[in-house]
Amino acid sequence: MKPPPFDYAAPETLDDALALLAGDEDAKVLAGGQSLLPLLNFRLAAPSLLVDLRRIAELRAVGRVDGSVRIGAMVTQRAAEDDDALARDVPLLREALRFVAHPQIRSRGTVGGSVAHADPAAELPAVLVALDGRVHVRSAQAQRTIAAADLYRGFLTTSLEPGEVVTAVELPAARPGTAAVCVEVAQRAGDYAVCGALVQATRNGDAPADVRVALFGVGQRPVRARSVEERLAAGPPVPELVREAAELAADGLEPQTDRQASAAYRRHLARVLVRRGLEQALERAA
Ligand code: FAD
Repeated sequence: MKPPPFDYAAPETLDDALALLAGDEDAKVLAGGQSLLPLLNFRLAAPSLLVDLRRIAELRAVGRVDGSVRIGAMVTQRAAEDDDALARDVPLLREALRFVAHPQIRSRGTVGGSVAHADPAAELPAVLVALDGRVHVRSAQAQRTIAAADLYRGFLTTSLEPGEVVTAVELPAARPGTAAVCVEVAQRAGDYAVCGALVQATRNGDAPADVRVALFGVGQRPVRARSVEERLAAGPPVPELVREAAELAADGLEPQTDRQASAAYRRHLARVLVRRGLEQALERAA
């Protein structure tokens, strides 16, 4: 199918892009186009104007501020994956990006586009939730920062207001010795996950390890596995505690049944993938 007709603008500054968005309530941002263009082609979206962010250089910056990294919204997923300094600072990012679609799609798809698109089976929104990241947002009138926990409202739905653009994604840098793992089950390599788990772990000798766990593909938005994290806070991460904690991974989940998998199978996958992720991350962090 062909997309419905729309106007197109590719401004060179963020201010111009924000003014265009403010002037047309049916305008939409175009980033890498890897999710939006299929939606247009299937006529599931019909914006009057596409505001392409591709030429805005300030949205492609990567910087480090006070123990965090800031990744410009228009940094491609491939560029973020290939950035060795980013992989050192936020090891979960490269681990997760390797599972996003295919290299060709990652060469066009952007970090900000994935985070804003809010597919509940996508890896990057789950990275944001796992690490308590934040998104920096601007509109023609104001700017604000949204915590990951407040961003995702439901399927393809965020708390972004009309006219707001994600300008950067901020993630905390990991302590040295931190290990990160992404494990997922998909029908074919490069497909969205049926269920996936992200684990970041830092060992603290005989004290409980610092562990963060998030799940994706198991409901309307990415989910932090708080019960698992709390159980692991009870003591050093010995194999028995890790197995016990992983059994809690499906607590509170409300996964969907669809043509790919039943809700019960997704709950089972959540427990199995969290156990695998924890075992691998804790072994690497040792
Ligand atoms: P676009 O498609 O341009 O935009 C997507 C949406 O976000 C639009 O509504 C747009 O208006 C909005 N938007 C974009 N940027 C901004 C911004 N800065 N501020 C505010 N709103 C914005 N993704 C995965 O995570 N995992 C997968 O396994 C996966 N598999 C895929 C397989 C295929 C075959 C395809 C085609 C895509 C797949 N994707 C997958 C999606 C891919 O990662 C997209 O690149 C991503 O979801 C959207 O990024 P984009 O830059 O292409 O955004």
